Amino acid sequence: MDRTEFLTRIGEQPIINSHSHHLPDQFHHDLTLEKILRNSYVDWCGVPVPSFDSKTAVSAWLDAVRTRSYFVWLEKALMELYGIDEPLHSGNIEVYDQAIRSAHQDEDWHLSVLRENCGYESIILDTYWAPGEDNGHRELFKPAYRINSFFYGYNHAASDHNGHNIQVTYNRSITDIDEYVSFMEEILVERKTAGCVVLKCALAYDRGLDFGSATKAEAQRAMGQDDPDGINVIRFQDYIFDQVCRIAAELELPIQIHTGLGLMNRTNAMQLQPLIARHPKTTFLLMHGSYPWTSDISGLCHVYPNVRADLCWLPIISPTAARRLLHELIEVCDADRIIWGCDTWTSEESYGARLAFLDVLSRVLVERVEEGLMRQGDALRFAEQVLHSNAAKVLGLSD
Ligand SMILES: [Zn+2]
Repeated sequence: MDRTEFLTRIGEQPIINSHSHHLPDQFHHDLTLEKILRNSYVDWCGVPVPSFDSKTAVSAWLDAVRTRSYFVWLEKALMELYGIDEPLHSGNIEVYDQAIRSAHQDEDWHLSVLRENCGYESIILDTYWAPGEDNGHRELFKPAYRINSFFYGYNHAASDHNGHNIQVTYNRSITDIDEYVSFMEEILVERKTAGCVVLKCALAYDRGLDFGSATKAEAQRAMGQDDPDGINVIRFQDYIFDQVCRIAAELELPIQIHTGLGLMNRTNAMQLQPLIARHPKTTFLLMHGSYPWTSDISGLCHVYPNVRADLCWLPIISPTAARRLLHELIEVCDADRIIWGCDTWTSEESYGARLAFLDVLSRVLVERVEEGLMRQGDALRFAEQVLHSNAAKVLGLSD
């Protein structure tokens, strides 16, 4: 079986997408090319999209971003989804724009792309703007519950990078650490009952991932303080994460943790080693391949049975890094340890992320078959596990 044939076979697999920020229905109804690009990594992590009124500015912008991975896969997605043969340039913007506008006249088009074109059976949704939502489509979106705001509830003034503080959200004024932990537990039980399948921690945008072990007395020092010392905030957060891990294990909720990019200072996955070692009963889904420190993930997966590699985002950050990490993971851990998600806001970019991942997966697996390191049947089964059954199992979505 050559790579094209292999790609076709795995492309027919239903997929469980481990991580998405797909925006609510309303957002997609008036989608344009410019709006897709502005709500993509090309803008957020690349070069800001200029006004489409100036063709010269668009042309210069395209020259700057055209070779970047985020753009490459989004462009491929737009060409495939909208049947356009010519790459995007300043002279054919209207062709792309018109195709997008007219497809979205059908208000279900964005969902149909996810279901039909992408083949997603379920999508884990991280609505960080309002944690725990399902966009009104529970049959497709399964909520992740973002826990960042728990780490900022020591007073009413602090907030995470999305502006949230759990005490403010729930209108509480707790100043006792035991009472605060019970409050967190109540929320997590409530979220699990409401259908949340996983917790999500994105603190790598707020602090390093070196969560130490803190005592209750140390955690109490920040509680109720208007302007607590930095070290007391750190100890409070360290204590809180231990408590979250304990509760998550009791509730059988895995924890997704953003690793790698972010502050880029102590945000590599290996910083989590003490936390992971302290909580063998908690399942940790380490996201994004800890890019650029990708080998941290294979090392942790090799040693700790409670660690999974969630490759979401990585194939569009750098397909080269994703291929290398996938090779390493195949070599060092069991086939049930890897999952993938798109990590995007629109269906168009999600389709591009899926294209990128299937490209990575097929290249790696076919290469290993050709080198005599894997049998073809095992390669196909491996792909099925990564795209579907691993996530079904770890996220409790099995039939
Ligand atoms: Zn994300």
